[in-house]
Amino acid sequence: MTTLRIAGGKVLLPDATVERGDVLVDRDDGDVLAVGDTPEGDERLDAKDCLVMPGLVNAHTHAAMTLLRGYADDKPLDAWLREDIWPVEGALTAEDVRAGTELALAEMIRSGTTGFADMYFHEPEVVAAVEAAGLRARLGHGVVTVGKDDAAAREDFETSLDFAREYDGAADGRVSTFVAPHSLTTVGDEYLREYVPKAREAGVPLHYHANETEDEVAPIVEAEDERPLERARDLGMTAANDFVAHGVHVDETEIELLADSDTSVVHCPASNMKLASGMAPVEAMLDAGVSVGLGTDGAASNNDLDMFDEMRDAAMLGKLAADDASAVDAASVVEMATAGSAAALGFDGGRIEPGANADLAVVDLSAAHLTPHHDLVSHLAYAARGSDVRHTICDGTILMRDREILTLDEGSVRKRAEERAEAAVERATE
Ligand SMILES: [Zn+2]
Repeated sequence: MTTLRIAGGKVLLPDATVERGDVLVDRDDGDVLAVGDTPEGDERLDAKDCLVMPGLVNAHTHAAMTLLRGYADDKPLDAWLREDIWPVEGALTAEDVRAGTELALAEMIRSGTTGFADMYFHEPEVVAAVEAAGLRARLGHGVVTVGKDDAAAREDFETSLDFAREYDGAADGRVSTFVAPHSLTTVGDEYLREYVPKAREAGVPLHYHANETEDEVAPIVEAEDERPLERARDLGMTAANDFVAHGVHVDETEIELLADSDTSVVHCPASNMKLASGMAPVEAMLDAGVSVGLGTDGAASNNDLDMFDEMRDAAMLGKLAADDASAVDAASVVEMATAGSAAALGFDGGRIEPGANADLAVVDLSAAHLTPHHDLVSHLAYAARGSDVRHTICDGTILMRDREILTLDEGSVRKRAEERAEAAVERATE
C-alpha cells in the first residue's frame, strides 16, 4: 500500500464542522484511511492555510456542451433548443464530443469537481476521456424518440441500453452508467413501457429531465389528468437509485412521491434561472426528506461548470423561492453539492471519513475574499470560487497539484476544443 497525506490544513467533516487535521489516503484502493491526527504518508501534499473538503459532484450535466458555451443565450428553453442548440449538436462528431468533454473535465478539475453525471451521445468517448483524466462519473446515452420513426427510436434506446451494459464498472470502477430517456415529453410512452424494464434487467438506474418548465408539465396534466412524476411512477421510473434533473414544477403529491420512492432530484439553479424555467421548491423537498443533489446542467445554459457558483445560486434562489432568508442555508448547499450529489449518483463519497472514496478538493483560504475565517462552511457556500481550489484528488490520485492539472494537457485541450467548436458551428450553419 502507498499512502498520501494531505497535511497542515483544516478538514470539513461529515457533520459540517471544521477541524484542524490531516487526511491520510490509500492511493492503491483510493479510499480515505484516517482523518485528524494521522501517521506520516509515503507522499505529502501541502494543505497549509487550506480547507480539505469532499470533492464536488456535478450530478447533472452534458459535458461536451462546453463547445456551445456562449453560442446562444437569452432565449426560452424551447426556442433555444430548436433554433440554436439542436442544429449544432446534430453536427457534432465523436471527436467533437471527446474534445468538448475534455474541456469540461479540465474545468471540473480546476474547480474541485471530482465526480459528475453526463447525459449526452457518443458516450464511449466520454468514458475514454474520464478514464484518462481520472475523475469518477456516472454516464448515459440520452434517448429522444419524438420526431423519429419507429426503427430510429428503437435504435436510440438500444444504444443507451448497450452502452449502460457494456461500460458499467469501466475505468477501474470509476465509471458507472444509467439509461437516459431524455424527458417524459421527448420520449414516447410505448418506448418507455418496453425499455424501462430492460434497464431494470441490466441493473442500472434511470436518469431523465423532469418537470423543468411549465410547458413540459401542462400537456401531461391535460392529456392524462395526472402529474408528470405520477406518470413516471406508473411507468416504473421512480426506483430508489433513479435520479431526475430539475424538478422545478413539482406539486406536493410529487414531492411526497419522490421522498417515498427515494428518487433523487438534481437541482440546477443557474440553468433554471437563465432559461427562466422557474424556482424549484428546494426547501420543501428537503423538509419532505427528498434526496437532493446539485448540478450545473450543460455549459450552454449556465455558462460554466463551477460548482461553487452553483452552491451560491442554490442558496440564493432557494431563499427567494421560499420567501425565507433562513431557507436552503450554507450547510445545506454544501451537503447538496457533496454528499447529496454523491448519493444521487451512487458514489461512496461526498464525505471525508475512513472508508469513503478519497475524492477531495483542497481550497486555499488565503485569498482576500475568504478573509476572515468566522465560518468556513459559509465561505464555501457564499464566497469561495472554483479558482480557489489548490489541489484536486480523485480515487486517491492527484489530478491537480498547486493549480497544475497532471492528467490532461490543458493547453492542447483548450486549443482542440476551440477548433472543434468553430468547425461544428460552421458545418451546422452553412
Ligand atoms: Zn440537462
